[in-house]
Amino acid sequence: MTDNIEGKVVVIVGASSGLGAETARHLAKAGAKVVLGARRVERLTALADEIGVSHDAVVQTDVVDAAQVKALVDRAVELHARIDVILNNAGLMPHSPLERLKIDDWNQMIDVNIKGVLHGIAAALPYMQAQKSGQIINVSSVAGHTVRPGGVVYSATKHAVRVISEGLRQEVKPHGIRVLTLSPGAVATELTDHITEADVAKGIRDFYEEYAIPADSFARCVLFAMSQPEEVDINEILFRPTSQQ
Ligand code: NDP
Repeated sequence: MTDNIEGKVVVIVGASSGLGAETARHLAKAGAKVVLGARRVERLTALADEIGVSHDAVVQTDVVDAAQVKALVDRAVELHARIDVILNNAGLMPHSPLERLKIDDWNQMIDVNIKGVLHGIAAALPYMQAQKSGQIINVSSVAGHTVRPGGVVYSATKHAVRVISEGLRQEVKPHGIRVLTLSPGAVATELTDHITEADVAKGIRDFYEEYAIPADSFARCVLFAMSQPEEVDINEILFRPTSQQ
C-alpha cells in the first residue's frame, strides 16, 4: 500500500490532531514529503519533530482565510517545486439541535468545513493544472450521506463537500487530476471536544467511547487511494466502525 507514495509532496490541512496528524505519521513513514497546516502551530512543530520533518514545512493556517491556505500550499511548492496531494481535512463538529439557534456554531462549520475545503482547492488547483497531475482529497463523513437530529448543519456541510468533490472531479478530468471524497464514521480524535452544548456533548462522547475506531483506519484509506497507479482515480471511500449503525 506504499507504492506511488515515496517522494510525493502532500499538503495536510488540519494536521495538528486526529486524522490529519495520524495521516502525516503514515505518509512520512512511507517516504512522502509532508507540509503541515493548522492554527495550533505548536502542535504542528511537535508533530514535525516526531516524524522528522523540518519546521520549514510547518505553516500556521486558518482555513477561513483563503490567503493563509494559499501561503501553506505556496510553501510546499517553494520547498519541493511541486504539490502532488492536498488533504482538505480541517473540520469541526459542534452538534446541536437547530431549535437552540447556535448561529455562531453554524457559521463556523460553514466557514471551516465548506469554505476551508474550497480555499484548499483554490490554492492547489493552479499548480496541479500546470503540472497536469495531482490528487485532491476532501474529507466528508458518514454524516455526508445521511442526516440525524442534532447534526443537521454538520451534515449539510459534509453533503456540500461531496457535491463539491464530484463536480470538481468532472471539471478537472482533462488536467489529469484525481479527486477523492473520503467519508469516515466514528474515529477517535478531538472532534467531539468542541461541542458547546453539554447534554449533546455527553451523548456524542458516550457514542464515540463505545464505537470509535483508531485514526490509523483513516490514514490507511488515504495511502490506499494515493498508492493506486496514476490512471486509477478512487473517487469515494466510505468507511465506519464495524459496530456502528
Ligand atoms: P480533530 O478535532 O482531531 O482535528 C480537526 C483538525 O482540523 C485539527 O487539525 C484542527 O486544527 C483543524 N482545524 C479546525 N478548524 C480549523 C481552521 N479554522 N483552520 C485550520 N485548521 C482547522 O478532528 P478529526 O481529526 O476527527 O477531524 C478531521 C476531519 O475529519 C474533519 O473534517 C471532520 O469533520 C472529519 N470527520 C471526522 C470523523 C471522526 O469521527 N473523527 C468522522 C467523520 C468526519 P487547529 O485546531 O489546530 O486549527
